[in-house]
Formats: sequence, structure tokens, C-alpha cells
Amino acid sequence: MIDTRSGKGLSFVRRIYLPRIIGLAIGLFSVMAAVAPLHMPNWAWTLLLFNGLAWPHVAYQWAKRSTAPYQAEQRNLLLDSLMGGFWTAAMHFNPLPSVTILSMMTMNNVAAGGKRLLLRGALAQVVGMAVACTLLGPGLQLHATPLQVGACLPMLTLYPLALGWVCYQLAIKLAEHKRRLSALSRTDSLTGLLNHGSWKDLLLLKFQSCRQQQLPAVVALIDIDHFKAINDTYGHVVGDCVLRQLSQELKRSLREDDLAGRYGGDEFCVILPGTHEAQACQAMERLRERVGAYRNPQLPDLRISLSIGLSAFHPALDTPEHWLEEADKALYAAKHQGRDQVNFARDGASPIRLVYPE
Ligand code: GH3
Ligand code: MG
Repeated sequence: MIDTRSGKGLSFVRRIYLPRIIGLAIGLFSVMAAVAPLHMPNWAWTLLLFNGLAWPHVAYQWAKRSTAPYQAEQRNLLLDSLMGGFWTAAMHFNPLPSVTILSMMTMNNVAAGGKRLLLRGALAQVVGMAVACTLLGPGLQLHATPLQVGACLPMLTLYPLALGWVCYQLAIKLAEHKRRLSALSRTDSLTGLLNHGSWKDLLLLKFQSCRQQQLPAVVALIDIDHFKAINDTYGHVVGDCVLRQLSQELKRSLREDDLAGRYGGDEFCVILPGTHEAQACQAMERLRERVGAYRNPQLPDLRISLSIGLSAFHPALDTPEHWLEEADKALYAAKHQGRDQVNFARDGASPIRLVYPE
């Protein structure tokens, strides 16, 4: 269903504005050339000039100020069709200008409102024709002079160009929206890191490339120690700041190829491609130390420590879940052994704690 809230309705109104100014201004030439020999009354000339030059601005303001701009613009489009029908009858159905005006209008209606506006627009055109026949008298003029043919050329060339341009701009905007939405659907809104689902998709891809190409890679699971207590002591706003701070630190300290995500809650996950255990341990140890060194002058007692579980890829792993499970076991062991430490698991065996030389 189309959203008629002012924001979206207004963009529709704006999108129609320029094509209507161009369409009606150049359409004016074709109608003037066709009605000139027919001795139209003055009021009809005034109406023609109003329709060709002033109506686009009146229509724009009318729809813009309306409480429901989308509906108001639909009404304006129907009035366009009504007037189009009126002028084709006023010029006694002179074939070239009539077909030009009616087909351009129909193209406009389909582009703006699909089948519904197409049908309602056609009906409005018939009503317009009937009104003109009643007020100006019926007539048939099947021959177009060279001047009348020439007067149609701007409409036949420029208007499709303008409408095509508007559609192209719209397509570009849609593509941009689609790109943004797709990025949003892959991102964790609090931290800006990859979310659980998209990180796991990447884990599968990395797992497959490690298997096929025998490349080294390490998965790290990072969990904040006693985060619940941080929330309970300082409040959830501070808790959120801690999560954001850690994600910033992850972005800062990781390489471009490393893939960091928020696994959920206070747990983060990283894939370190092309990395051996020792390098991964060093990188994670640096991260642990940096985060451990955070101090906040407004919250002098706040301390943040991390427990990190690592698992290096090895051929005995049969699924990405298995790989992740090993990192999870290493994390669990890190928690169990007193937290604030980095642990790695090797070949499905029990996780081993890394001991660094002093
Ligand atoms: P442990 O050292 O064993 O990891 O203890 P913990 O308290 O960190 O572990 P636990 O899993 O019990 O607590 C995680 C907490 O994270 C619980 C939940 O309320 C909190 N949490 C989850 N998501 C968010 C979030 O988006 N913002 C904030 N502020 N807190 C969150
Ligand atoms: Mg925790």
C-alpha cells in the first residue's frame, strides 16, 4: 500500500512538478497551433494559457499545502487528464496533436499510478472531451498542417526525455536505498559491527575457503567479564557505551581483512583470516590489555576486562559451527580459569591457556 504521510506524498508531488511544467509548456504549442484556425472564444484561450503556464505551479502549491499530498497529486493528475481530453475535443481531434497529448498523458499516468491511474485517467479524458464538445461544439479536423505537425515535435521529443530522466533519477535513488537497507540489515545497530547473522554467513565462506585453499585462520570469541554487574552498577546507558567503546577498539586494532561482529549481548566475534594462532593470540592479548587499561574520570571505579576464546582452523573441523564451538569452549575455559585472559583451543582438545613470558 502507498504511504500517504506528508513526507512520502510530498516527494511524489515534487517529482511530478518539473515534468508537468515542461509537459504543459510544450504541449501548449501543439494545442495553440491546432486551435488557432478554429476561432475559439476568449475564455477558452484564457483557460488554455492558464493550463499551459500557471496550472503546474497552482497544482504544486495545492498538493503541497494539502493534508494528504499524495491524494491531492492524484487528483491533479486526473485534472491533467480531464484538461487533456478537453483540448483534444477543442482542437476537433486533430490526429497528431491529439495522439501526442493523450499518449504523453497516458505515459505520465502509468508512470505515476499504474493501472488504476491509467483507467481513471482515460475516463477523465473522455469526460474532458464531453465537456469541450458541450461548451465549444463538436467537430472533426483530420488534417494536420505542417505548422501543427512541427508544433508537436517538441512535445514528442522533450517530454519523454524529461520523464525518462525523472525515472532514471528515481531508479538511482531506489538502488541507493536498497544498498543502504541491505547494509543496515547486516549491521548491529548499537555497535555498527556485523550482526550475528551476517557474521555467521561470512564464517561459512571463510570456512569453505580455508578448507579448499588450506589457508590458516582463527576465530575469536570475546566476552566482557561481569558485564551484568556493570549494567547493574552504572546503568544500561553506561553499559551501551562500554559495548560501543569495545567495538571501536576492535575496529581500530584489527586489520582490514579481519571480520568483527557482535555475536549477541556482550559477546563479540572475529574472524582473523591468514593468521596463525600465535599472531591471533598476540592481537587479542593487545586488545585485552588496551581495554583493561580504560579509565573514565567520571566513573573512576569502572574497570572492563575481557575473556577471549580462540580457535584456529584445522582440517579435522567438519562444519563452521564446530569451529565456533571450539572457540566457545576456549572462552568458557577462560571464564572458568578466572576471566581477564586469552585462551586457545587446538584440534578439538581441551582449550589451553596461553602463558606469556614476562
Ligand atoms: P560473565 O563474566 O560470565 O560474562 O558475566 P556477565 O555478567 O558478563 O554475563 P551475562 O551473560 O550474565 O550478562 C550479559 C549481560 O549483558 C546481560 C544483559 O542484560 C546485558 N546486555 C545484553 N545486551 C545488552 C545491550 O545491548 N546493552 C546493555 N547495556 N546490556 C546488554
Ligand atoms: Mg559477559
